[in-house]
Amino acid sequence: MGDWRKNIRQVVPYTPGEQPKRTNLIKLNTNENPYPPSKKVQEIINQIDNWRLYPDPAAGKLVHALAEYHGLGDDQVFVGVGSDDVLAMSFMTFFNSEKPIFFPDITYSFYDVWADLFRIPYETKALDQEFNIRKEDYMQPNGGVIFPNPNAPTGVLVDLDFIEDIIQANQDVIVIVDEAYIDFGGVSAKSLLKKYENLLVVQTYSKSRALAGLRIGYAMGNPELIKALNDVKYSFNSYTMNQPSIAIGAAVLEDEDYFQETIKKIVETREWFKSEMRELGFSFADSKSNFLFVTHKTVPAKAIFEAAKENDIFVRYFDKPRIDNYLRITIGTEEEMKSFLAFLKKFL
Ligand code: PMP
Repeated sequence: MGDWRKNIRQVVPYTPGEQPKRTNLIKLNTNENPYPPSKKVQEIINQIDNWRLYPDPAAGKLVHALAEYHGLGDDQVFVGVGSDDVLAMSFMTFFNSEKPIFFPDITYSFYDVWADLFRIPYETKALDQEFNIRKEDYMQPNGGVIFPNPNAPTGVLVDLDFIEDIIQANQDVIVIVDEAYIDFGGVSAKSLLKKYENLLVVQTYSKSRALAGLRIGYAMGNPELIKALNDVKYSFNSYTMNQPSIAIGAAVLEDEDYFQETIKKIVETREWFKSEMRELGFSFADSKSNFLFVTHKTVPAKAIFEAAKENDIFVRYFDKPRIDNYLRITIGTEEEMKSFLAFLKKFL
């Protein structure tokens, strides 16, 4: 028997939230948008007739539409297959120091997976008791910095001054702000791109644009960073973006009214849901995202998670230190949240 196993890369993969096969349930476990995407999706999909051909490797149409939308140059936008793809490429491209990269201890649980996969040394920095990022922790020598804003799964938002202080203290490395949930009540750090050439801002179509199924994410940064990302991408897979993603991704940006309307509904539901949850004895840091990260004063989170599931309501539970008594609940439609509250009232 040979020793071939020693040549296999060993990784512990990221575990995404469950996607149950059944449809007649309330799904509040993966931060999807409860509303359908823009009607442009159907319109465009019927117009696509060049399936036979490879897509534009540069995804030029989508890049251009995003650049216009955000007031940037085409050379300041990189697109990928969901922000997971963009983030993975960014880890590979920008985190190449022998010094550890820094990110919060409670954060998107893909970061440590990518760091392990690409053999990037990392150090996590503990959030404070209220789940706030402690700025000073990021002001020591490091190989790069990444954090989501708002943070996930906590929902806690920091302001632009806070981000600017972190960037200023980290001029020799790349600082990545993962804005997967920024549209639900935050201000994007994209305005800081004019001032800082080492900043990369990453966004996604999966949450606020209700297109998790299409898989579109993008990064905004200075042309040198974007070129570096493209060089890595073209060294890996030229055609990451398929025809529908390019065409639909560009078209839905024109439907701004619908986009704003959907966000408004989710934010209103979130604020109402917060007060209902407080009344039921839950506490949580104030969330500016499309989910709430809650703990109950007496009832264990895991028990609620399991009972909810039995009642066909899926929420997210992380069996991890410091957060194993918390639930992350996606904000669904008002109706869905009412059903969830009715379940809670009975169960508690
Ligand atoms: N960043 C954060 C903080 C997330 O929660 C998610 C969703 N799992 C992503 C990035 C990736 O989302 P997507 O690949 O769908 O753009």
